Amino acid sequence: MTCIFCRIVAGDIPAEVVARSPDGVAFLDLEPLADGHTLVVPVQHAPTIEALDPAAADGLFRLVRSLADPVRRAVDALGTTIGINNGEGTGQTVPHVHVHIVPRWRGDGAGTIHTIFPRRTSRTLSEVAAAIRKAVNT
Ligand code: AMP
Ligand code: ZN
Repeated sequence: MTCIFCRIVAGDIPAEVVARSPDGVAFLDLEPLADGHTLVVPVQHAPTIEALDPAAADGLFRLVRSLADPVRRAVDALGTTIGINNGEGTGQTVPHVHVHIVPRWRGDGAGTIHTIFPRRTSRTLSEVAAAIRKAVNT
């Protein structure tokens, strides 16, 4: 087994595990962006959310939901930014789905999801919506 997160799920390598359920495992990020920065991974190995079985995706989000408040309270944060780098092209560094839960405080210097992207679009909303609706239905 070469996937580092599969090895953490299996208990083969150490991690600061904070929760474990049939749906997945949550452990602290080794290079935390903030105190409490937690990763939540499904038991199933899959590189992206679209590659996960639907039931595994349901379970993963259930686990994320159950952890968001405990993670926030444990470090007295005001909220959490929750995100997934979904696929190699996004800069994802570990090809096993993982959800980042990062606690947030007022004035912590971090931005919103809008600050990740330089706003760059070239097509109209209706054009893009039509393309997505077509993709959803094929
Ligand atoms: P991403 O850029 O979304 O793929 O994030 C991968 C995250 O995994 C990074 O924030 C790393 O710090 C974290 N990471 C990598 N290896 C480990 C590990 N063995 N235990 C905990 N976190 C890890
Ligand atoms: Zn894996």
